[in-house]
Amino acid sequence: MTKIITRFAPSPTGFMHIGSLRTALFAWMLARKSEGTFILRIEDTDKEREVDGSIAHIMESLRWLGLEWDYGPDKTNPFGSCIQSERLETYMSAARDLIAKGYAYPDPFSAEEIDAYRRAAQADKKVFLFRDHRPTQFEVWDGKRPLRFKVPEVKRMQWHDEVRGDLSAGEEAVDDFILIKSDGYPTYNFAHIIDDMHMGVTHIVRGDEFISSTPKFISLYSALGISPPKFVSLPPILREDKTKKLGKRDGAKDILEYRADGYLPEAMLNFLAFIGWHPGSDREIFRPQELVDIFDLSGIQTHGGIANEEKLLWFNREYVQKILTEDEFFHYIEPAFRGGVKARGFEYNAEVLRRMVPLLRTTIGVSKELTTSVVEGEYDYVFVDSTIEGNALVDKKSTAQETVTHLEYLHSALTNAAPWTALSLKELLWEYATANGRGAVLWPMRYSLTGREKSADPFAVAEIIGKESTLHRIASAINLLKGL
Ligand code: GLU
Repeated sequence: MTKIITRFAPSPTGFMHIGSLRTALFAWMLARKSEGTFILRIEDTDKEREVDGSIAHIMESLRWLGLEWDYGPDKTNPFGSCIQSERLETYMSAARDLIAKGYAYPDPFSAEEIDAYRRAAQADKKVFLFRDHRPTQFEVWDGKRPLRFKVPEVKRMQWHDEVRGDLSAGEEAVDDFILIKSDGYPTYNFAHIIDDMHMGVTHIVRGDEFISSTPKFISLYSALGISPPKFVSLPPILREDKTKKLGKRDGAKDILEYRADGYLPEAMLNFLAFIGWHPGSDREIFRPQELVDIFDLSGIQTHGGIANEEKLLWFNREYVQKILTEDEFFHYIEPAFRGGVKARGFEYNAEVLRRMVPLLRTTIGVSKELTTSVVEGEYDYVFVDSTIEGNALVDKKSTAQETVTHLEYLHSALTNAAPWTALSLKELLWEYATANGRGAVLWPMRYSLTGREKSADPFAVAEIIGKESTLHRIASAINLLKGL
């Protein structure tokens, strides 16, 4: 397989949402699949939009997901720099070459003049095209005016997109766009083409919002005398109501917020891979290397993918419950549990958490849920005796007298129970519970241990709180009932 070279080219705007990371993932998978090269390039030519600290944030986000790059801002590379603002001389020199060939000229108009042309075109219900106003004589470029591209040939454009197939656009899609702005920085339209050329990029993986600009890009490729890389246009990521593209204003979260919530990077990658791509089978869980192996351009869809948080949670739950080893799971939930326990004012105890692992394993989708449940008191019974109400101990199909009988039976059976595991306790008590009504026997057991209407099964709870507490709480419940 020929080696594929891709790049991920974010602008340092301080925010990385799942759409950006999905693009990065697809570019990374494509490069890794062919044992090619994945480049991280920082597109910081719009100085007004730049946010301090963004480059570190971008790298941290990619590294969290394991999307390591071969060349990037922090690595030596054959291109000099992977940060566009450090490559200005490269764009200048390419611009000078275009001027020399007659493919670029200084824009002689003020912003007000251009605006007037635009309004006049609107009034005539025509598409505003700068080239309709292109001067016949070009001045010498002083570097202070914007430098524009002189489209060599105005014609209908046809090109191929690896996802969308054959595309075309009319003459109105081709115009004299700005190459270098009056502040000396290149535009995205110019810089990315020069960089892709210098960096040997074979496939441009990016969102399909760039399709409408592709005719302009193609005319620049031809002026430069090069053939374009392959275009891989990814479908948009839609909001859950499918009406619009997901954006920051719709509450799109920064990727590192998901990390803070406890999402696993592998689950996130798996989720991202399925937004706009399908492996062609029913299987959904793929580890990162498996994704690389199975990823194929033909599986990319043209219709928008949905950013569904429920689905992300589902992926995370699958990893948490089925893929992590018991030890990995323990380390995964430990910080969330510890944080919750401290906030609730209890003392953290690793031994207790170890005993809770089997229970939590079947309930947790993402570790943040555990912090919330602990803070809300759901697991108070693990640390302190529960406050219980006598009447609430009696199951609806039972009486206070019967409940006392059942609890006394449980107490004496449990006094001699060994070993003290959920499984053996269940084996010990199941027959009695079945014979006397599971609700009538197990409800008061569970409620006396946890004091909660909803909680795990009583055997799991008994294992977690230990023999002494179990017996003590059942005895208290019996006393409470007798005093009614
Ligand atoms: N800097 C562009 C963006 O953030 C990159 C587009 C591209 O990959 O060419 O949208």
